Amino acid sequence: MIIVCPACMKKNNLPTDIPVAEAQCGQCDHDLWSAKPINLNDDNFMQFVPNTEIPVFVDFWAEWCGPCKSMAPHFEQLAQHYPQLQFAKVNTEAAPRLSAFFQIRSIPSLILFKQTTQLARAAGAMNTSQLQAWLAQHGIRN
Ligand SMILES: [Zn+2]
Repeated sequence: MIIVCPACMKKNNLPTDIPVAEAQCGQCDHDLWSAKPINLNDDNFMQFVPNTEIPVFVDFWAEWCGPCKSMAPHFEQLAQHYPQLQFAKVNTEAAPRLSAFFQIRSIPSLILFKQTTQLARAAGAMNTSQLQAWLAQHGIRN
């Protein structure tokens, strides 16, 4: 399966029997899966998400948004427990084109992507157990 390296943004073709969480980039040796949410922006999002064959769970947030800040540690804490997903964050102020493209009207907004498909989206802050329940509703369990 194709996995884009979160460090150098090069595509890696990974044999399906190798877990993404245990693989390194053939170009730069960086881990192909990050246990911490990666930062995506107007420049790298379209390289990373549509080309990565595992779902990417994205938190659209902003610096001035209190609920975003309260959700951040919950989102970050969960990221390490879902090796079948890549967690990512988009700072909406730094990524105006993405925010417009995905019609982000309130933040935080969460979108679960599978390449170019939006599997699910939600608006409003959630804590760890709410996030887990929401992912489970969409068939993703840790
Ligand atoms: Zn790399």
